[in-house]
Amino acid sequence: MRPVVLCFSGLDPSGGAGLQADIETIAALGGHAAVVCTALTVQDSQQVYGFETVAAGLVRQQAETVLADLPVAVIKLGMLGSGAIAAVIADLLRQHPHIPVVLDPVLAANSGGNLASDGLAQGLLRLFPFATLITPNSVEARRLTQTDNLDDAVSILFSRGARNILLKGGHEPGASILNRLYGGGEMLHESRAPRLAGDFHGSGCTLAAAIAVGLATGLDLPDAVAGAEAFVAHALQNADRPRADGQFLPRRITP
Ligand code: PLP
Repeated sequence: MRPVVLCFSGLDPSGGAGLQADIETIAALGGHAAVVCTALTVQDSQQVYGFETVAAGLVRQQAETVLADLPVAVIKLGMLGSGAIAAVIADLLRQHPHIPVVLDPVLAANSGGNLASDGLAQGLLRLFPFATLITPNSVEARRLTQTDNLDDAVSILFSRGARNILLKGGHEPGASILNRLYGGGEMLHESRAPRLAGDFHGSGCTLAAAIAVGLATGLDLPDAVAGAEAFVAHALQNADRPRADGQFLPRRITP
């Protein structure tokens, strides 16, 4: 069957981010997405108004049911919502040590709206050693490490057990966006893309999902990241803007 990526994330009713971003991306790139819902969010294409997390025990049941049934090739972690859900996922990953994991440490939406409840940051730090790759943006890297300098933040993330880090530069100023891939404490690759005009809703989810399905189809990490960056660039270039002056929704499936 198509390579299966098991995704944990929240439902974004605008369809821009979260589980829908995962499903569309993974399907567009030839995989099959299995999805465990961690939270129901209240948001439109512009901002987050609130969310409620799913009971951690129910997250565990959803995941165990799928893991017992489908040949999961890669696990992709997006919005987890709470420390309790992160703890359940740590348990699951301990039971499935051979499945590669892409962890997007979501704390907030692109708009800045909060997507984290108590204990999530600590819970995410505890997941790092299980992840093949973590994909923080610069805001998340600073917040998770409580430091301003990004080189220091990368060192701290490695000291907390991260194995590979894709540090995304979209929130840094400048006419281009610089992403840096680090592995084993060193920088492996740097990619620069022109900054598109406007703000995008769900770009981080799309990137992490595309990396996950790349790994699931057998690419090595640098190739999976490069392929995912190209996929995101295309989805953003073709994005829809539901409101004048508002955020764009990536177009991941093109006819
Ligand atoms: N996950 C969910 C469920 C979301 O709703 C959002 C943003 O709204 C995100 C993740 C993060 O989105 P982005 O890809 O824009 O960083």
